[in-house]
Amino acid sequence: MAKHTIALLPGDGIGPEITAPTVALLHQMGDFAFEEHPFGGVSIDAHGAALTPAVEAACRRADAVLLAAVGGPKWDTTDPSRPRPEQGLLELRKALGLYANLRPVRPLRALYDASPLKREIIDGTDLLVVRELTGGLYFGKRGRDGDTAYDTMVYSVPEIERIVRTAFRAAKSRVTSVDKANVLESSRLWREVVVRVHREEFPHIELEHVLVDNAAMQLVSNPRHFEVIVTENMFGDILSDEAAMLTGSIGLLPSASMGGDGPGLFEPVHGSAPDIAGQGIANPLAMFLSAALLLRHGLAMETEAAAVESAVDRALADGLRTGDLGGSATTDEATRAVLNNL
Ligand code: NAD
Repeated sequence: MAKHTIALLPGDGIGPEITAPTVALLHQMGDFAFEEHPFGGVSIDAHGAALTPAVEAACRRADAVLLAAVGGPKWDTTDPSRPRPEQGLLELRKALGLYANLRPVRPLRALYDASPLKREIIDGTDLLVVRELTGGLYFGKRGRDGDTAYDTMVYSVPEIERIVRTAFRAAKSRVTSVDKANVLESSRLWREVVVRVHREEFPHIELEHVLVDNAAMQLVSNPRHFEVIVTENMFGDILSDEAAMLTGSIGLLPSASMGGDGPGLFEPVHGSAPDIAGQGIANPLAMFLSAALLLRHGLAMETEAAAVESAVDRALADGLRTGDLGGSATTDEATRAVLNNL
């Protein structure tokens, strides 16, 4: 029997194209059993729901869940009664109790010129965005009332405490808590809790509070300033995509979602890229780096995780560039370049 079971959710668009090479990569790293399941748009087509109870149960049983991406124009709808691929993602995060999303942002020297920012601004950036994932605006009460629509941002003290602890534990010297405490009541509670947890449990770490609009500016004017940024769900969604651009391409960014005792969920930050799906040109590196986070945070295989990351770094240093990085390498060529460096 394989040592670890990985639930594979290739999803939609470029998902299957970047999942297959990642399985090949992981086979080089250890003894894994892969169980592939329909999820997102393909699951809506087959079963009428983005996440079926059977797939949810299979994910719970696995040692880790590796997801590529979901969604696409085929399933775009503004009709609230129709199922949407992203619902599956929200439901799976909730079912697995994944309340913390970790997104490391570390621009690679070989790719500085692919970044829209100047080399001297991004040089030395090494930050982690810790985004609260199961509360806030995306999970609050919402609805329509005549010609009005509303969404609510709700946070409880325990929800804030656990995400803030995740951030402080990940930090070596500084945590930046991002909120909108000058306007939002939920942000004022957020700030109170951050201050208390800091004082009682992590006084040796520096804490600063930055308003979300200011954080958005500083991320592009002085990204080196940040070490760990912790913030609520929607602010984190937006800021982590902004931080993504520091690396020059969304095709390079992995993420890990962790929670209680069950498996973690590992996935690229990017979506299903329907505009390039089926052409064999998707950049598989964010998916490879997500597999590295799976090895590190999901299975405690640090040596193997570091080996994958350094193979990716070396392939890029050797000149590997897919279309999103201004080159012309195909998904196959990118995969070979990384496997050759493993
Ligand atoms: P996207 O990330 O899919 O694409 C944005 C741009 O980046 C596109 O031009 C795309 O070609 C490019 N890109 C993304 N990943 C790439 C890769 N690996 N290699 C090369 N180029 C890449 O975002 P979008 O266009 O806003 O969304 C497309 C679909 O994906 C939508 O249905 C959206 O809802 C969904 N989505 C899913 C997730 C997820 O599954 N976690 C996240 C974001 C968006």
